[in-house]
Amino acid sequence: VKSEARGHVRVYESKTDQLIHDRWALQADLGHALRNGELSLHFQPQAEINGRIFGFEALMRWTHPTRGPISPDDFIPLAEESNLILDMSAWILTEACRTAASWTQPLTVAVNLSPIQFQHSELPRLIRQTLVDTGLRPSRLELEITESVLLGDFAHIVSMLRRIKAMGVRIAMDDFGTGYSSLSYLQAFPFDKIKIDKSFIQSIGRTEQAMTIIRAVIGLCRGLGIPVIAEGVETEEQRSFLAQEHCPEIQGYIVGRPAPIRVYGQIVDRLDPA
Ligand code: C2E
Ligand code: CA
Ligand code: CA
Ligand code: CA
Repeated sequence: VKSEARGHVRVYESKTDQLIHDRWALQADLGHALRNGELSLHFQPQAEINGRIFGFEALMRWTHPTRGPISPDDFIPLAEESNLILDMSAWILTEACRTAASWTQPLTVAVNLSPIQFQHSELPRLIRQTLVDTGLRPSRLELEITESVLLGDFAHIVSMLRRIKAMGVRIAMDDFGTGYSSLSYLQAFPFDKIKIDKSFIQSIGRTEQAMTIIRAVIGLCRGLGIPVIAEGVETEEQRSFLAQEHCPEIQGYIVGRPAPIRVYGQIVDRLDPA
């Protein structure tokens, strides 16, 4: 509230107030998004280095009725603050598994998990139930977690991950290399895949350090027998560097953008075997 010279009072919002108000408004809108059918799934292909697509990562999309598309980097944190993430994640898991179960080709589907989901012990039960309900073979489902998941009650979280893995579902470590202690986690849990963070990939051809790190991570994973995938591969220069370093798998715009699954209909419903 700002007093003006002639005794009038003008109410105005500072830039910060506006941002906070936006957050509240957006969070409230997010509460209706699921019911209103504003959430959808995009699928981004994952490929062997030779280009053969073996699966897709499911990525959540929110189209706000007036603001249009809102980035998951903006709305996932809001959903996590309000626990809305639980309902949204249950929906995305069902939707992703149901979609993958409908494909002619037995391709894999990768789903991102939020740290909040691990604070609720029903997670393994939810996953088992979703597999039963959708009929998807557990080996076709991969769950991606970031290091932030492991920052909670470590022993408890590892035991949940083991229960999930015991169902035959695979667990991938996402955004590898961006956290503080990625290496120690490789020892603490038998990950089925490592995803090299796109920040490293985007430095290919720019900084020698990033290329050295990529080389080292690929070598480390080979030594440990953990499959590795490079994410955020956009250019032919990046792809050929990764091929030269024997990186087995890639994901990124060079293979395909995240899109509604119908865009990839010919791949998932190909009648000849892959
Ligand atoms: P992420 O899991 O690391 O997903 C990869 C992000 O990189 C996606 O952004 C994808 O669209 C983008 N990307 C893929 N290929 C390229 C490329 O070649 N170049 C560039 N520059 N970017 C590429 P998106 O879809 O905006 O998602 C952002 C983040 O939001 C995700 O990062 C993930 O952390 C989170 N997220 C998305 N969907 C879900 C979900 O269903 N559940 C949860 N818990 N988190 C989600
Ligand atoms: Ca991911
Ligand atoms: Ca990632
Ligand atoms: Ca990320």
